[in-house]
Amino acid sequence: MEYRDLKAQYAALKTQIDAQIAEVIGETSFISGSKVKQLEQRLAEFVGVKHCVSCASGTDALLMPLMAWNIGPGDAVFVPDFTFFASAEVVARLGATPVFIDIEYDSFNIDPEKLETAIEKVEAEGRLKPKVIIPVDLFGRPADYRKIKKIAQKHNLLILEDSAQGFGGALDGKKAGSFGDAAGTSFFPAKPLGCYGDGGAIFTDDDSLAEYLRSIAVHGKGKDKYDNVKIGMNSRLDTIQAAILLPKLDALRDYELEKVNAAAAKYNELLDGFVATPHIPEGYYSCWAQYSILLKNSAEREKVRETLKAAGIPSNIYYQKPMHAQTAFAYLNLSDDDFPVAADVCTRVLSLPIHPYLDDDTIAFICDTLKSALE
Ligand SMILES: *Cc1c(COP(=O)(O)O)cnc(C)c1O
Repeated sequence: MEYRDLKAQYAALKTQIDAQIAEVIGETSFISGSKVKQLEQRLAEFVGVKHCVSCASGTDALLMPLMAWNIGPGDAVFVPDFTFFASAEVVARLGATPVFIDIEYDSFNIDPEKLETAIEKVEAEGRLKPKVIIPVDLFGRPADYRKIKKIAQKHNLLILEDSAQGFGGALDGKKAGSFGDAAGTSFFPAKPLGCYGDGGAIFTDDDSLAEYLRSIAVHGKGKDKYDNVKIGMNSRLDTIQAAILLPKLDALRDYELEKVNAAAAKYNELLDGFVATPHIPEGYYSCWAQYSILLKNSAEREKVRETLKAAGIPSNIYYQKPMHAQTAFAYLNLSDDDFPVAADVCTRVLSLPIHPYLDDDTIAFICDTLKSALE
């Protein structure tokens, strides 16, 4: 059994994907070919924003807006304590200070009340300047932008939405990728919209930010690549990856989102009352980057994992460690006491196979096997 079945997806889309790849090779337009522009337009339209700037990875898609906003030493950037390392890595990479915020049990996302308390504390201390909030649409469910936007406005902060796991999700009729002053997404193969290598994209309604991003993505270009007006980097989406993403975006929009939501609903139905299942409240729509449950404790999680493994069912732990406990952030001197929810969730969370090509019989088999480990 596959954890995220990219082989089944390729089998379904093979004719289109192969033809797309062949076209790019035929044209030998490997960098910045016409399919990159085409994809950017289609992505911007799907998300409902003015600009999409593609780039080399989801990590760069977070790094570049922070560069454009001139984030650096002395700046505080608020990041959930429970996320993939890159969400906070980009902050520290620029010399700014990540301020970690505990999460909610229900959503696994940043806790807006704790966020506001932390902002007020940084303001009162006066040592760092609060600049940006990076909410993460973890496991495919958008963060609570209803509250986060109000907090950002009140404290005059920018929002950089980390939608690496969120592409295809929505809140109150608006698509993930449209909630921040800028948003970054990832096309890493296992993400909700994945290519066949590394890739990413930035979304924004801000014309001057989009222009700035297009410049730093290509060595700080001015008139052209050999007129360099600022210090940039090389971060582009390969034309072949854009070509692969075009039919995949159609599939995601036309049926994959619906199918993956049906799979999650089936899990919820079969696991209800046995384990804590993910909850998607009114107004929210998840793209199910992960289907994550909570067990009673780490011993029960180990037992479940081993039982699943013996039956040939893959499972994963996202995440083993909260951000504040990562060795790379030891210099911040933070303790579990300040992040009780994230610290607890790390000991009990477990993610089960989820993807649009998962059928009901397989889900029933996974759930039966899981339940047998609970008895
Ligand atoms: C995957 C991921 C990233 C980084 O994306 P890459 O394309 O791997 O660089 C950033 N944030 C989150 C939450 C992610 O899951």
